[in-house]
Amino acid sequence: TYFILLLITITRLISTVGNKTEHLNNNSLLSSDLISRHNLHDDPESLESASRDFGNLVHHLPRAVFHPRSPQDIASLVKTSYESPAPFTISVKGQGHSTRGQAMARGGVVVDMRALREENNSNKKKNIRVIWREEGYYGDVGGEALWADVLREAAEMGVAPASWTDYLYLTVGGTLSNGGISGQSFKYGPQISIVHEMDVITGKGELVTCSSHTNSELFHAVLGGLGQFGIITRARIALHPAPKMVKWVRLLYNDFSAFTKDQERLISINGRKHNNNDNNDDDVALDYVEGMLLMHQGPINNWRSSFFPLADHPRIISLVTQHSILYCLELAKYYDEKSENNVDKEMQGLLEGLSYMPGFYYEKKVSYVEFLNRVRSGELKLQSQRQWDVPHPWLNLFIPKSQIMDFDSGVFKNIIFKRNITTGPVLIYPMNRSKWDKRMSASIPEEEDIFYTVGFLHSSGFDNWKAFDAQNKEILKFCNDAGIKVKQYLPHYSTQEDWTKHFGPNKWRTFLERKLQFDPRMILSPGQRIFNKD
Ligand code: FAD
Repeated sequence: TYFILLLITITRLISTVGNKTEHLNNNSLLSSDLISRHNLHDDPESLESASRDFGNLVHHLPRAVFHPRSPQDIASLVKTSYESPAPFTISVKGQGHSTRGQAMARGGVVVDMRALREENNSNKKKNIRVIWREEGYYGDVGGEALWADVLREAAEMGVAPASWTDYLYLTVGGTLSNGGISGQSFKYGPQISIVHEMDVITGKGELVTCSSHTNSELFHAVLGGLGQFGIITRARIALHPAPKMVKWVRLLYNDFSAFTKDQERLISINGRKHNNNDNNDDDVALDYVEGMLLMHQGPINNWRSSFFPLADHPRIISLVTQHSILYCLELAKYYDEKSENNVDKEMQGLLEGLSYMPGFYYEKKVSYVEFLNRVRSGELKLQSQRQWDVPHPWLNLFIPKSQIMDFDSGVFKNIIFKRNITTGPVLIYPMNRSKWDKRMSASIPEEEDIFYTVGFLHSSGFDNWKAFDAQNKEILKFCNDAGIKVKQYLPHYSTQEDWTKHFGPNKWRTFLERKLQFDPRMILSPGQRIFNKD
């Protein structure tokens, strides 16, 4: 009986969503009166800019672009749409670093959060306001803020969030809508797990403060919610004392099984439980574990980081030629003046018994800020060569631990190897499922304690991105046929069937219920193509 009732509820929800979506798709009859009343921009330059993102694969023109000066401005725009007989869709563009048009709104309005950043700058408003509570320090940051600015200002005050992305020129709202992952996630959780409170504008235009205690349904919906339930205008994030320095190590492997075994071992040696009041003194575990592929097609250093000394390039390249693929394990441990004497010894202890290739150990000691901002120099270099704004047919996946060997043999050693086109970074590192909160919208493999993330961060030419797209499709088909239960991170699908599969029946039902509760007229984030057809 339960399953029949469940089926009926889901069918009803889908049909309600379908009706509303159809209504919206005839939509976006944004009148000139409305455009001038809300100070919307509809000049060709603004429209063109809002129809582009980092992916450079999808281009949808909005009807207008909104430059907010305050969260209230955004709330008023959403309310206008919500109360209109023909609501228009609204997307928030943080930095536009999506790759498949997720921040676009074809025929609707794009809220350009850059305007809010500029407004804050001109008012000399800080990107982070640090506050003290009994449990520790927190920072209030705007949804429009860049993590790079948050880091700079927080570190100046001697504090920092514990969880990051590899690249920091992304907005707080943009990464919290997805998850926000990096080598710290195994230990500190994704960025969505360090949020304690948010101000959110719902699809009804209401500005609501939410946390896991107050308006908790909205709080959990928005984190990892792909922008579907509300617009984040403020997040309160946990802070801890900022470390000063980082010991950063890379180890090379030619054996995938040894590489993953070591990664899994390292993420299981968790030190003392870390909270935002913790000063890390006796925490001996690593702070960051990632990994990547080195393939004969690609250069040894790439835009994500240059690490290996030039003198060693020939011997690494010759190894890559010999083995076709090398696996590079990347680790980091934070330290400060007090722990400087111990860090080498601690790292040595942690690396004991690992199976990397003898003689292929590399290390650096850099400042904490330099480590976190490590991708920026590569970006600036590519920008100067006009190689940053090219198409990026990326594919990011989560893969259960028990299936990672099958993935290696079917994808890395077969599809990627045969197609021989991959030149950008391919990342691979494990995370602990226990660090993800099930109540949040983010969808991860639920079956096992550990899952891997694999990121194919391809750059291509304008004439050959379809070859990468075909490779991505082949990878997904292979996983499907082989029963490898992958989930896309930064997902993009074009049918509701695929979205249902992505979330799984229970999570999808909750997702639909939350959509009807917080954005019943399907106004927000149409570029994700979950409830709105293009
Ligand atoms: P946008 O692309 O502008 O928006 C993305 C989605 O979020 C849209 O649906 C938008 O409507 C919604 N959104 C944006 N702002 C808000 C808001 N305030 N409230 C509600 N919804 C909002 N991700 C990682 O997890 N780890 C990484 O290490 C990492 N590295 C990256 C490196 C590069 C070079 C790039 C291009 C991307 C990387 N990403 C990484 C992916 C990135 O986190 C996501 O693409 C993220 O959404 C980008 O943030 P943005 O500000 O550009 O968001």
